[in-house]
Amino acid sequence: MNKWDWLSHSIMLRETMIDGYIVNVEPLRVGAGREPPLEALADLAVLRIRYGDVDLPYIPGSSLKGVFRSYATLLVRHSGLKACTGLSKEACGDVEKVDGNKKLNDYIDYLMRSGRGKDALKTFYEKACLMCKIFGSAHYMSKVSFSDAYPIDENGGVIDVKTGVRTGIAIDRRTGAVQPGALYKVEFVEPGARFKFSIHCKNLPNYALGMLSLVLRRMNEGLVKVGGFKSRGFGAVKVEGLRFRSRDFVKEQSLVMVALEPESDFEVDLSDLAEIKDGWIVAKGDRAWKVLDKLIGTWDRFVKSAKKS
Ligand SMILES: [Zn+2]
Repeated sequence: MNKWDWLSHSIMLRETMIDGYIVNVEPLRVGAGREPPLEALADLAVLRIRYGDVDLPYIPGSSLKGVFRSYATLLVRHSGLKACTGLSKEACGDVEKVDGNKKLNDYIDYLMRSGRGKDALKTFYEKACLMCKIFGSAHYMSKVSFSDAYPIDENGGVIDVKTGVRTGIAIDRRTGAVQPGALYKVEFVEPGARFKFSIHCKNLPNYALGMLSLVLRRMNEGLVKVGGFKSRGFGAVKVEGLRFRSRDFVKEQSLVMVALEPESDFEVDLSDLAEIKDGWIVAKGDRAWKVLDKLIGTWDRFVKSAKKS
């Protein structure tokens, strides 16, 4: 196995699913745009989607992915490792130079066109930051996807969502003065709503799953918030009904998750926490959290050894 094999989208080494419910403990506001711009003080409704014959508030997968990526970026930088913002012009593919003075993106495109897929993977592995490898970039598909989170139960039945409206006063951020005619209304989801989420990972090494697990832990502790108005007491959530499932394709079925990246990843033995069901390693509830804790342990080890080298 090469260090960069897990970056391939054409071979399947592992599939991992983490799902459950995001339950908001503070008002939650996921709107169509960002927080209200100063000039356009239209009343702001929460984002809704048509489900059967009702319109339901929901959390788009893209919002959740953004929350995970930005907190993961903090974690990675805090560990002293490289992490770009992922924004165009700042992403590794735009900034990193290879083979003389070629942009990483252009060089990878050139290798792919020349039928040198393996060299492309190796170059991407060596030059891109961990965030681009896991969450993707303009030229590289993400290894992790987040479903839209709907207020529905295991059987697809709608879970009631209560919404409320608050009136805010718009302040000019530059001068600190109240804007003339500056009252606006913000709709939000009342605490206690349940949104079914699902995270699907392809080929992620144990340490990378550990990093995502750490973000989910922090989310459950209310430290990683979702949606807008975070600084005004909105957006804290907890995670309920957690379920972990994973299967490795590189070896015979067992409760051991193999190390997917030579020299950097670590094996994780789940014999005491999980069971095998329909070909998957499965753990639920408290046991699923303990599985995530074991994975977080490999993330800690990965950080320590990356610092040494
Ligand atoms: Zn990057």
